Amino acid sequence: MAGGSSWSRPLNPCFSPCCFPFVSACKAVRIKCPKSGRNRICISRRKNMTKAKIAVIGAGLIGLSTAVSISDSLPDCSVAVIAEKFTPNTTSDVAAGILIPHVYPETPVPRQKQWFRETFDYLSGIGNSSEASEAGIHWLSGWQIFKTTPAEKMPFWADVVLGFRSMTEKELQKFPEHQFGQAFTTLKCDCPPYLIWMEKRLKANGGQVRARKIEDLWELHSDYDVIVNCSGIGSRKLTGDLEIYPTRGQVLKVHAPWVKHFIREGDGPAYIYPGVHTVTLGGTKQKENWDLASDPTTSKSIFGQCCALEPSLWAAQDIKVRVGLRPSRPAVRVQKETLFRGNEKLPVVHNYGHGGGGFSVHWGTAKEATQLVKECIAALETPSGKAKL
Ligand SMILES: Cc1cc2nc3c(=O)[nH]c(=O)nc-3n(C[C@H](O)[C@H](O)[C@H](O)COP(=O)(O)OP(=O)(O)OC[C@H]3O[C@@H](n4cnc5c(N)ncnc54)[C@H](O)[C@@H]3O)c2cc1C
Repeated sequence: MAGGSSWSRPLNPCFSPCCFPFVSACKAVRIKCPKSGRNRICISRRKNMTKAKIAVIGAGLIGLSTAVSISDSLPDCSVAVIAEKFTPNTTSDVAAGILIPHVYPETPVPRQKQWFRETFDYLSGIGNSSEASEAGIHWLSGWQIFKTTPAEKMPFWADVVLGFRSMTEKELQKFPEHQFGQAFTTLKCDCPPYLIWMEKRLKANGGQVRARKIEDLWELHSDYDVIVNCSGIGSRKLTGDLEIYPTRGQVLKVHAPWVKHFIREGDGPAYIYPGVHTVTLGGTKQKENWDLASDPTTSKSIFGQCCALEPSLWAAQDIKVRVGLRPSRPAVRVQKETLFRGNEKLPVVHNYGHGGGGFSVHWGTAKEATQLVKECIAALETPSGKAKL
């Protein structure tokens, strides 16, 4: 865990007569001024430092990992996760959760690679620990296969996963329709367990969780000092960002415990990702499609494609269909923004738009967002930052 930094609420006393008598001692506290009705900071006689209050919007993979990272790094702050939906009803619960990067065309590759490496190293630590089972993290080996040999045989992440190599002729015999393949070992995060484990860690750090839909970021202004927006596809409405759009994914979760390796078409739609309890069979990538209803024809086609790759799946049982909307964006948005309303300021850190690769980079983006939160808190201590309070 990273070290903490302390923060004391900037002093911006309310000099209304009702509050003025308090202005004499050592601690700034937030109260509602009975005269003006506004939330103000008054200086009280108590000696303890007041905590900075941080609200994280979103309880999917990105919101919870960001909240855990902030609460690990800033133990003097209070962190609350506020979300409309929780596990098992988030997009993150639909995903297979495998760590194989998706490429964000407008995020520089070195930044994507750093996020992936940080996430891989972090989850390796959990995967190698006694927490692995409870956290839903496990190692997974398998094959990425191609009908046509790709121009780029070494993806940018090849030296991050373990044992990346071209498949042998003998391995390829299993896939007669495919002429090239790559074998490697990576990690997989099973949800809900991973989300439940992160929520538990957050609470152990003193964090809180609240169910609430936010219509406008300013709703949180009077109660929180910094807002962290991890609302996934919800960011389109919440921030008005038209660069984010849904990429619909339909998958099947089946019982087939004998399947122990992943199989993924590098140049086709089919994938088979075994988890601890179910195997995820995919899938579709339908841009700008908001439909959360499942389509039986698509399910049939997914099942047929996956059985063509792994015929033993014809014996799979307990087939469940899930649909999720990937929060797609040309670049993941990990960015600070200050919103203004009259004389008031609202510091916001965005962390959304992870599309089809959130699991692969989430800890890297959570760490970067945490750094931005630290910068916001530091700015609140400057004279211009006091205007917010
Ligand atoms: C079928 C499928 C398979 C996938 N497989 C993989 C994979 O194998 N590997 C991989 O790396 N990635 C995969 N992904 C992508 C991954 O699931 C996403 O990148 C990730 O889940 C995004 O997480 P999130 O927290 O941003 O979004 P979400 O999980 O959607 O969470 C968003 C949160 O914000 C809340 N929220 C939104 N708006 C508001 C509001 N106005 N007020 C309050 N709360 C709000 C929601 O209620 C929710 O709690 C897959 C996705 C799909 C759909």
